Formats: sequence, C-alpha cells, structure tokens
Amino acid sequence: MPAPKAHLLLIGSELTEGRLLDKNGQFLAKKLSDLGFYVEQIKLLPDNPDLLRKSFQESLHTPVSVLFSSGGLGHTSDDLTAELWAEVLGDSLHFSEELYEQLRARLEERGVKALPYLERYARIPQKGEALPNPVGLSPALYWEVGERAICALPGPPSELQALWEQVQPRLIQKFKPVPPLQHTFRTTGLTESRVSALLESWETTLPPGLQLAYNPSWEGVSLHLRAPAEIGEASFQAAVASLRDRLKPYLYAEGNTPLTAAILAELKRRGETLAIAESCTGGHIVAAVVDIPGASEVLVGGIVAYANSAKESLLGVPPAVLREKGAVSEETARAMAEGVQRRFGATWGVATTGIAGPTGGSAEKPIGTVWIGVAGPSGTWAKKYIFPGGRTAVIGRATATALSLFWQAVRGVLSFA
Ligand code: AMP
Ligand code: MG
Repeated sequence: MPAPKAHLLLIGSELTEGRLLDKNGQFLAKKLSDLGFYVEQIKLLPDNPDLLRKSFQESLHTPVSVLFSSGGLGHTSDDLTAELWAEVLGDSLHFSEELYEQLRARLEERGVKALPYLERYARIPQKGEALPNPVGLSPALYWEVGERAICALPGPPSELQALWEQVQPRLIQKFKPVPPLQHTFRTTGLTESRVSALLESWETTLPPGLQLAYNPSWEGVSLHLRAPAEIGEASFQAAVASLRDRLKPYLYAEGNTPLTAAILAELKRRGETLAIAESCTGGHIVAAVVDIPGASEVLVGGIVAYANSAKESLLGVPPAVLREKGAVSEETARAMAEGVQRRFGATWGVATTGIAGPTGGSAEKPIGTVWIGVAGPSGTWAKKYIFPGGRTAVIGRATATALSLFWQAVRGVLSFA
C-alpha cells in the first residue's frame, strides 16, 4: 500500500514577500511524514482571494488524501481561508451560539471584553467540524469528504501546533497510515564528500525502497535512513547495523542528540571536565555548551580573551609568542588552550583565535583564518582553518568546528588530514 499523499498550502503574504520564515510547513511535514503520509507538495500562497480559490479548487482535483492549509483564519480583511474552503467544498459556515459563549467566557476570564469580531471565530461548517483552539481564538476547520480530509489551521505556530493534537487522531482513524522505519546517525569530522566516498560501495547493497539522505551542517554530516514499513524490521535493522559499523569512528550520536550533548555525556561518563578560552568566537562555544541541561557537571568555566592583553594576563599566553607569531597563530591557540586548562584546573581546554572579518585580514592570514587549540591529558593539538563566508558564518563555523575537533580529541580520532 503506497503512503497516503498530503499537500500543504501555507497562506500569507508575509511568507511570499519574504518577511517571515515558514514554521508551519516544517512542523506539519515532519508530523505527517513520521505518521506515514507522503508529503508531496508544500506551497506558499499570498493573501489573494482569486489565487487562493484557484489553488483550493485545483488541490481538490488532485489525487491526495490530506489537504492542509495554514493561515488566514483571523478576523482581518486579509483572512479569507474559512470562507474560501467553505465555498469550494459547497459548504457554508453557521454561527454557533455555544462556541461564541465559550470564546466570550475565555476572554472574560482574561478581563477582555468581547468585540463584534469575535463572532467570526464562532462559525462552524455545516458539513464539517470546528475543532476548538486551546491557546487562541480561531478553531481549526476539518472536513472529511469521500476519501479525503481537508483541514484549515490558524497561522500562529503555537495555535497550529496545539490544534494538530486534535487533528492527528482523526487522520489516523481515517487513513490508518503506517509509520515508516527511520534512523538518524550523526557524524562529525568528515566532509559530506568523504562520508559519501566512505559509503559508496555500501550504498549499492541497499535493498530497494530504502533511502539514505545526507544532511550536512557545520557540526558534521547527519545520515537519515528511511524505508516504508513493508521492507520489514529485520532487513531495516540489518542496514542500520551495517551503517553504524561503517560510521563508527565518526559517530557521535544516533537520533536527535546535538554534538554538545554528546560531548557532555562522554565527559560526564569519564568524570572529566572542560574549560574554554575564546577569542574570535566571543563566547559562542560556552553558550552552545550551557544550552545543554547538566552542563555544570562538566563545564568549569570560560574566558573571552579578545585583546592581546587579556590573552596574556588571563590565560598566560607569553608576550613573546604574541609579538613574534601573532594572536592568530598555532602557538597562541596552543597557549590559550593550555592556559585555560591550567587556570580552571580542568581535564580539557579548548581555544579559538581567528579573524572573523570583515576587516583585519592580510595575504598571510586572510579573513576566516581561525586556529583551534585543544589541550588534554595526553597533549595539545592545534589546527588551522580558513572558513568562507561573512563574520556570522566564520563565527558559527569556528564554534561548530571547535566542538567537532574537541570531540575528536576526546575520542582519540583526531586526524590532521
Ligand atoms: P493568520 O492566521 O494568517 O492571521 O496568521 C497570523 C500570524 O501567524 C501571522 O501574522 C504570522 O505571524 C503567523 N504565521 C502565519 N503563517 C505562518 C507560517 N507558515 N509560519 C510561521 N508563522 C506563521
Ligand atoms: Mg494571514
């Protein structure tokens, strides 16, 4: 049985004019895909009634099981979704005294007086349902028409996500989708092309229907294996195990764990601690680490040493090193990593020093040059990178790469190739 198809129509001129980045499509696509629907199309549409009417009609003539819209359910002049769905479905919206009372009472509890616009939110489709919104005013509208379900959800992501909880059981009951088999591996220390080279021969042995997706990020490359349930748990798990085997030296987690969480878990397991000295990353590495609950068990502290004087006085970088080799040098990165390790009495010290730009580059040390140092129980490493992109990208890449390099040092797989 092929997976039932879904189309998503995301409505709002703020989306098509580029003023807002969509969250609803991403949320619904993930939920529907995990349930076992095949999301075939996600469309962004402006608040234009003719265009919306045409798109709704077209979508009703496409062989899809589930149609979702988001947005346009408010009470302003650009909110047209409810009327247009009713129109193309040959339905009408009727005022419900009961729903109105519920909404009025909710507002009253918060000390807000009901204004005439409230009536718009109390309309129920004759041939469908209005699913009450636990966090906002606009209900979701839900129809089942023949083999199809149509659902209009409000635009604010928190409301859409809350209402999804009521839509999901209806979809499961009507379509009985079979969730796909899925597994995510997270690697660091290899580029996408090196991962792909590593897996080249293995990929040819994959059973048909099993898909492998590469998702590169600054931290590393994640690999997502996905297959329809028909392939069978045993053959899926065999593929998972053989992929795990191949990726082992570079694998920091499976599932959703971020690199920082994997690092903290590993150090905690060993009873080891970490201190961080940052120049060009200005605190970003510490911020990434403290995002993870329980960071205090591993992170002793951090120092942002931006000026040479701070590198000298707070981290003990020798003035001669700074004078002769410069602040952005292998020697300085090593001295910073060892300095912060010593200063905090930590098992490990990590350091960054570089040129984030847009000024300060030279022929010898172009913008994007970053030295990352790691000091550990068995020695000190330092590695040079030249990161592309503007200031934000250089800082982001340096932060992610420092974490990656550190993880590799901890696991003893650091390679300078
Ligand atoms: P609406 O239901 O069209 O009145 O949308 C209300 C608000 O929800 C908009 O002003 C946006 O701030 C937000 N919103 C609507 N659609 C989206 C979307 N696809 N992703 C993120 N936020 C959205
Ligand atoms: Mg809108």
